Amino acid sequence: MKDTNKDDQPWVTLNNGIAIPALGFGVWQIDDETICENAVLKAIQTGYRMIDTASIYMNEKAVGMAIIKSGVARGDLFITSKLWVQDHGYEQAKSAFQRTLDRLQLEYLDMYLLHWPFGDFIGAWKALEELYKEGKIKAIGVCNFTIEKLEELKASSEILPVVNQIELHPIFQQKELQMYNKENNMITEPWSPLGNGNNLILKNETLLDIANKYNKTVAQVVLRWHLQEGFVVIPKSITPSRIEENFNVFDFELYENEMNSIRNIDTNTRLFFDPKDPEWEQKMLASKADI
Ligand code: NDP
Repeated sequence: MKDTNKDDQPWVTLNNGIAIPALGFGVWQIDDETICENAVLKAIQTGYRMIDTASIYMNEKAVGMAIIKSGVARGDLFITSKLWVQDHGYEQAKSAFQRTLDRLQLEYLDMYLLHWPFGDFIGAWKALEELYKEGKIKAIGVCNFTIEKLEELKASSEILPVVNQIELHPIFQQKELQMYNKENNMITEPWSPLGNGNNLILKNETLLDIANKYNKTVAQVVLRWHLQEGFVVIPKSITPSRIEENFNVFDFELYENEMNSIRNIDTNTRLFFDPKDPEWEQKMLASKADI
């Protein structure tokens, strides 16, 4: 995968030739419309060009408003959304995609992801493949797919996902899955890259030492580590100063020994939902999201 530089920031080329900014802006847990719109607008003004939303976040409308208000040309932005599990299946996926476009007030998506590998995700993927071929989505990918689920998807589909978006941060690095993604030409896109602000990361001694050395914050060091690992990373914040801080990571570089120290922090500590947990799967499939 070839890296390029555009708008003074790195873009990464996906397996289908489409470029994605290496650093984007996540909007999970920002369900207040005004707060979300202001945060996304601030992010775009700061220089972020990639926004990561999902139908289940209930904020696609606010993201769409911020895009319009930003005045930045559509072609200069990279917008990702995700299909929720209750819309899995071929027909449901097609109509859910259209509802997402309508809420975002967009004509196409840059990337559309299956949110979880549950229910009829094979049927949903068929719909995504068709929408991709029609040009309504520039790149299609998945989230939270284990190696087993990726093998299942590969066996019955034409197009390989461009990314696998998974929980990944210094204390939960999923090295085997990272390796599998790489071998299969998929970019690893960590979610909760800062561990959702968890102090096991933000107050970690190793990270604090590295941060002090560069006169950077721990969050900046962690984001820099993700970028140097070759990941596409999507921190979230509603705090204007942190939105800027998290974007200010292109003026320093970690040495290999520092990268290794951070790799060694891994304690296999998952902070959120486990895709292999049958109870979580049942809960998701049974939930009544109105999207
Ligand atoms: P992060 O790991 O980026 O952490 C966000 C939290 O950390 C917020 O509480 C934020 O506080 C705080 N924070 C942000 N920047 C800093 C900083 N510089 N210093 C100290 N604290 C900071 O986030 P998320 O868990 O939201 O994950 C990122 C994105 O990944 C999501 O927004 C979403 O787009 C995606 N995601 C995808 C999932 C999937 O299943 N595909 C699941 C979960 C997330 P504050 O906002 O108050 O500033």
